[in-house]
Amino acid sequence: MKLFLLISIFGLLNACKVSQPVNISSMKFANNQVIAHRGAWKNKGLPQNSIASLKAAIALGCAGSETDVHMTADSMLVINHDPVWGDLNVQESTLAELRKAKLSNGELLPQLDDFLKIIRQQSATKLILEIKPSEKGSAWANATVQKVITMVHETKTQPWIVYISFDYGMLKEVLRLEPSANVQYLNGDKTPEQLKQDGIKGADYHYSVFQKHPEWIQSARENNIELNAWTVNEEKKMNWLLANDFDFITTNEPELLFNQIKKSKTSSP
Ligand code: MG
Repeated sequence: MKLFLLISIFGLLNACKVSQPVNISSMKFANNQVIAHRGAWKNKGLPQNSIASLKAAIALGCAGSETDVHMTADSMLVINHDPVWGDLNVQESTLAELRKAKLSNGELLPQLDDFLKIIRQQSATKLILEIKPSEKGSAWANATVQKVITMVHETKTQPWIVYISFDYGMLKEVLRLEPSANVQYLNGDKTPEQLKQDGIKGADYHYSVFQKHPEWIQSARENNIELNAWTVNEEKKMNWLLANDFDFITTNEPELLFNQIKKSKTSSP
């Protein structure tokens, strides 16, 4: 009986260890510029936006792993880039309908909840969470944001999350619900001054926007706006962004970017 009790307590302790998040006060996120775009999938032949590609980004030590979230017709939050999955419109279909087709590695279409459970088990890699815009109008968009924020609060994963979107209204809704959230804009049509005025903390723009507006790099620094550029897969572009001290670079080639960072450190005086 005593042995049974000991085994039960040991099992319980182990279960707690697995389900407990890391201690937030001891968290130290990875200090590098690498954001894996839809996870680290390319070099490993993994499906984009899969649990496997998220885990691969964490294993590489990326500062962040980017991903995309939609709300389904039955109000579930699923991970997928496109508005369609197979033949189905994601926002017009239920989770069960969507999950009839699996990812190429056999995974079920992941839910946001699956990603949050993984991300909170470590303290190096953040989740760069793109809330996808909707053609279903602002009520749907706001309901999606509300659902995301509620899930992040329930799982206590706030420190791991950077919210990004092409939809400025959705980002403002994030800030209305969670004023301290790290929120970054994707669409490239706002100056750093405008972002600051609206409480947006980062310009996460296509790299060509910064080449067209190099003055925004300086004004972002002056306004305390973080700089991120997407989706940068070539050495030359990576090096230009590194030379301009970008905070983050979003890439399908995280391994290559790590190499370029290493080279840039050894070649600087
Ligand atoms: Mg995305």
